Formats: sequence, C-alpha cells, structure tokens
Amino acid sequence: MNTTNSEQPRDFIRDIINNDLQTNKYGGQVHTRFPPEPNGYLHIGHAKAICLNFGIAADYNGLCNLRFDDTNPIKEEQEYIDSIIDDIRWLGFDWENRLYYASDYFEQMYEYAVQLIKAGKAYVDELSADEIRDYRGTLTHPGRHSPYRNRSIEENLDLFGHMRAGEFPDGSRVLRAKIDMASRNLNMRDPVMYRILHSEHPRTGDKWCIYPMYDWAHGLEDSIEGITHSICTLEFEDHRPLYDWFLDELGIYHPHQIEFARLNLTYTVMSKRMLLELVQKGQVSGWDDPRMPTISGLRRRGYTPESIRNFSRRIGVAKTGSTIGIALLEHCLRQDLNKQAQRVMGVLRPLRVVIDNYPEDQVEELDAVNNPEYPGAGTRKVPFSRVLYIERDDFREDPPKNFFRLAPGREVRLRYAYFITCVDVSKDEQSGEVVELHCTYDPATRGGDSPYGRKVKATLHWVSAKYALEAEVRLYNQLFIKEDPTNVEDGADFKAYLNPNSLEILASCRVEPSLANATPGSRYQFERQGYFCVDPDSSAGKIVFNRTVPLRDTWAKIEKHEDK
Ligand code: ATP
Ligand code: MG
Repeated sequence: MNTTNSEQPRDFIRDIINNDLQTNKYGGQVHTRFPPEPNGYLHIGHAKAICLNFGIAADYNGLCNLRFDDTNPIKEEQEYIDSIIDDIRWLGFDWENRLYYASDYFEQMYEYAVQLIKAGKAYVDELSADEIRDYRGTLTHPGRHSPYRNRSIEENLDLFGHMRAGEFPDGSRVLRAKIDMASRNLNMRDPVMYRILHSEHPRTGDKWCIYPMYDWAHGLEDSIEGITHSICTLEFEDHRPLYDWFLDELGIYHPHQIEFARLNLTYTVMSKRMLLELVQKGQVSGWDDPRMPTISGLRRRGYTPESIRNFSRRIGVAKTGSTIGIALLEHCLRQDLNKQAQRVMGVLRPLRVVIDNYPEDQVEELDAVNNPEYPGAGTRKVPFSRVLYIERDDFREDPPKNFFRLAPGREVRLRYAYFITCVDVSKDEQSGEVVELHCTYDPATRGGDSPYGRKVKATLHWVSAKYALEAEVRLYNQLFIKEDPTNVEDGADFKAYLNPNSLEILASCRVEPSLANATPGSRYQFERQGYFCVDPDSSAGKIVFNRTVPLRDTWAKIEKHEDK
C-alpha cells in the first residue's frame, strides 16, 4: 500500500513514464489505452486496469483510448461491447472521441503481414494445429522446422492471398512468423499470425475469413494509435520479445509494453471464462448478479464508482502478483457510503410490538436525522403509532448475560422515539414461537431523550406497522467458500466451492414510509443493519433491496490494530 487517498500515486510504471518524459522519448506525450476483448462483462480486475490507464493519462495530461480488441469473432458479441461502454462510463472515465476497434485495422494489418512475407519473415504453413504444437518442442527441447517453412516468397504471397480470398477451409493453413524454432522463449518459435475462420464478425460481417492472433494484432493496434505506454498484465511479459520483434521487423512506430500484476481477490474468481460458466449454468442470475465480481454486479449490489476508484488507488500497481482481501474493497465502500448514504430504518425480520398505553388512533411524526456525518443533510419525519415492528433478533425472552436489548421487564430506547418496557409476551400455542410483544412507553422520553438521567443499555430501530412499506431484502455472502476457488483439489472443479448460502431472501421486511419513492440504484444505510441499494426488480407493490455490505468493518479494525 503505497498511497493514501489524495496523494499522487508513485509506482514503477509512473517511474518509467517520468523517466521517458525526462529523456523526451515520446516527445513528452503520454498516451495509454484500455483494450478489452468484448467476450464477457468487465470485472473488478478490469477496473484496476481501467483506473490505471485512464488515471495515468489524467495525471500526465495525456490521453487514454478505449479500444475493443475484437479479433476473435467466435466469442464476441454486441451485448458485451455495450456493457463495457456502460461500465467504464459509470466508473467515471471518458475516452472522448477515441473509441476504436481492432477490426477497423484489419486491412492495415493484412498489409503489414504482406510486408513481412516480402521480407522473408513470414510463411504459410499447412501443418495441422496438433502438428504445430508437436513441432513446437518444449521448454527443454527445441522445436522442429515445418516442412513448409522454406517456401518461396512468391508462393507465400500467393497462398496468403488465397487464404484471404476464402479458398481454403478452416484450420487448413496458417500464416506464421519465421523467427527461431530453437528459441528459449516458446512464443518466438514461429508464432501463428493468422488463422482461417469462416465466421461472421459482429462488425466486419463476412468480409474476412482470416483473423489475426492476439500477439500479432496487439502491437499493431498500439502502434497505429500512437500509444506510448502499452500497459498489460504480467502473463504477457514473455510475449514482449514478440511484441518488439513484430514492430522492429516492420520498422514502424514502437510503443513500450509494460506489465503489471493482475488483481486477484479472495473468495471469488476473476476469469471471464469462469464467470461466463456461472452465468450459462444458472449458478447466478446473470452477469449483473450482485454476487458477481463484475462491475455491473457490483453496481447492482450498491457499490459506488468512487469506492472502486479509491480501492484501485489503494492497492497500487506492482510487478509481483498478490491476492487482495475482499475486506479492503468493502472497507473502501463503507468509507464512501458512510459519507453518502442517507440513514433510514428498516426491519428485516419483523416482530410485532403493541404499545399498550399508546392511544389507538394516534400518530406522531418524529424527527429523524438523515446523516449524522452531514448535519446539512437535514432531518425527516417518521411516523410512530401504537403497533410497531422491531427486529426479532432484538428480543430475547430469556436473555443471555451479554444481551442488553429487549427482554421481559426490560426498558430500551426506540431510536428517535420513546423508551419502552416489555410487559408481556404472546406466543403461538402450537410452536411456542413469540408472535407479539406488549410494551408500555414513557411519554416523558419523547425523541428518545433520557429523563432524570435514566439509562437504558440499548437503542433499537423500528417502524410503524400501519405506515411501514413492505420490502424484500436480499442478503449476500461470498459466492465461494474457499479463499482461492481456482486452487482446486484433484479432479475438482471451481464450482465445487460455490457457497450454497451466498443468497438469502427475506420476503417480508418492513421499511419506513419515506422510502416510498426510492428509485433503483438509490443507496441507504438501514440503521444498525448495513448499506442497502434499491434493486431494479422493485415494483410498485414491493421495493426490493440488495444489502450492499453490513456495517461491521473488519479492515478498519485491522488498520486500527496496526496503528497501535
Ligand atoms: P480473462 O483472462 O478473464 O478473459 P482478459 O485479460 O483476457 O481476461 P481482456 O478483455 O483482454 O480480458 O482485458 C482487458 C485488459 O484488462 C487487459 O489489458 C488485461 O490485462 C486487463 N485485465 C484483465 N484482468 C485483469 C485483472 N485481474 N487485473 C488487472 N488487469 C486485468
Ligand atoms: Mg486478454
């Protein structure tokens, strides 16, 4: 953790950039890009890369492009493109008019490939995919030359033209770079540049039936856009020699690829393939299920863009991988929601309370504070009446030693209202379950003030039975029971570690009437219960809330401990 909230971050990438600015390597320019492949929704790991790329551009008065790396037509869809655009905007970043698609460069890439063939640096191979793998060798054994490696330039040009023209079936030929089959770096053993794929592309339709491979395409995209610092994750470190080789052989503008460690979070998976599987197999309700680590899932859950940006700043960037505890992300969220969220009262598991000495038809509008962090947020009225609901957990007929809330004969404070004392308990004759409490109130305690210095040990939240609104509340737990679900024991699958209790639905909660017009996406703190966000599933008859996060902050405790 090398930064606090407001300081300018300092990290190895910014050190490189500072150095490049000093030596005027790129004419004083800083131009980054965020290059998602539109084959899934963005997740919190992508948010780290987005904050990094857009953040660096902003810090250095530079530019950051949004570029869809749409080179694989099989897995890519418009739905993903739309969601990615929404998510990055929501995070608070702007690419102005610099929205690009790799597919717009296909013609240029093709010409570059022809240039390499003409230089004797690329050839059309007819080995099958299996044979290519077999010929590639291993880390300990050099590869072997393909029998097609020494075709003439003319023959290669001719065959590549026929590949493009659609005259060969899928998988029958590829274009490969001619580098070094004995290289210690497997990526340099004549990597494939183009494959044949008779597949409709979302943007180019059936114009192309050969598609460029990532390693070939990515450096070209960066070069064409004049990117200065091409920031990517660590798994591409071994690909950098190839990135450099292509650009050097072509003799074109050459950005600098820099790798950083990807974000991993505890108790979740961060691979699009796995997230897609959860969606397709119905393990979650969709990409935006509030348990998903996707940006759309976090948004629906109630995360704020500020909290995600702040989290990204706090974790910083480094060259070595690490796994961040989900508690830190939740801590950043609570810090922000504590400032932003209006306080309200909501009872998740209602227990009926009748105030025996309160007049039957009376209603009082009591003042409640909207946000103690901001006195300017003002107050609102909450109705108090003879029949109320309190939280079932806040009552014990037979209280254990450390239980200070309501119990027979005991007095507690109702927040903003009165002191009440429990005088009787009604139970279901069959089950013995407590169904209703009878209490008395002390009119001298209006507003929750303590008269004559009388002390109570607990303050409970409550709602008026008559005026409260019905609500459904969805409580969430970690999606996985294992800290690293991808670390599977023999033969197991990451799905074996799904938490069967990751979602609990409370169908008949009650919330105060001020929430009548709450719109989807609005965030609240339910006093004592956590932060909640209105779900789009809400209807006129029933508001649906997602619990974003409970109040208890384990990270804040850790920090406090460290400060001591
Ligand atoms: P996946 O492996 O899950 O399919 P990806 O890395 O292939 O993800 P891309 O769409 O290619 O997904 O990612 C776009 C950018 O986001 C890349 O530059 C990638 O390095 C970065 N990125 C992806 N995952 C993470 C992560 N967990 N942490 C940081 N950056 C990430
Ligand atoms: Mg990728």
